[in-house]
Amino acid sequence: MIIAIDGPSGAGKSTVSKAVARRLDFSCLDTGAMYRCVAWKALDEGVSLDDAEALARIAHDNDIAFTHEAGDPLPRRVSIAGADVTDAIRTAEIDRSVSPVAAVPAVRAALVAQQQRIGRAGNYVVEGRDIGTAVFPEAELKVFLTASAAERARRRVAQNERRGVGSTDYDVVLADIVRRDEIDSSRDASPLKPAADAVQMDSTGRTIDQVIDRICELAKE
Ligand code: C5P
Repeated sequence: MIIAIDGPSGAGKSTVSKAVARRLDFSCLDTGAMYRCVAWKALDEGVSLDDAEALARIAHDNDIAFTHEAGDPLPRRVSIAGADVTDAIRTAEIDRSVSPVAAVPAVRAALVAQQQRIGRAGNYVVEGRDIGTAVFPEAELKVFLTASAAERARRRVAQNERRGVGSTDYDVVLADIVRRDEIDSSRDASPLKPAADAVQMDSTGRTIDQVIDRICELAKE
């Protein structure tokens, strides 16, 4: 079974996906982390973000792997070509670079193929932007999770403070969220939009636990 959780940056997808996966005893896949890995590798190799061919080569030629920590059933660490980039992909520089990378159709094709391979191996909660529309259009449950930009920026600042990576300046985070929404929603390749059969949930003013409870109820129906 696949549960697709799509939505814009900072809507709470990661927290919700992990909690739902834990409750239902599913695994989970963070597809945004995969686009971040390609952006990290491009910056590491000095590849220009305008060079679509070189970006596609990076996505195609480098293995992205998720690994577990001892005693934790959910994958926590991510690496590309053997380099652990779990923290390195959460910086403000990657926040700025990832959307142009994700707009390249050949990058998407390479990563979508990997995502489908991973997800088809078991029961997965898969989070991203195009999971219900393009990666797993056959998913049994599709949720489109959103919240106001201000609420999303507040949550992202709190998350960055907890993790100790990324910007903790509210205005910087809000500007990045608004800019990424714009690029992600207007690109030609799989733009961010709800699938026709997605359940839309606005988490503004709801607790994360209420959202998690609702998704688990829907999954059991
Ligand atoms: O979810 P996260 O904020 O980590 O995603 C980073 C970026 O990766 C998004 O802003 C978007 O540009 C891209 N992305 C995507 N399709 C996905 C997941 C993420 O285009 N399925």
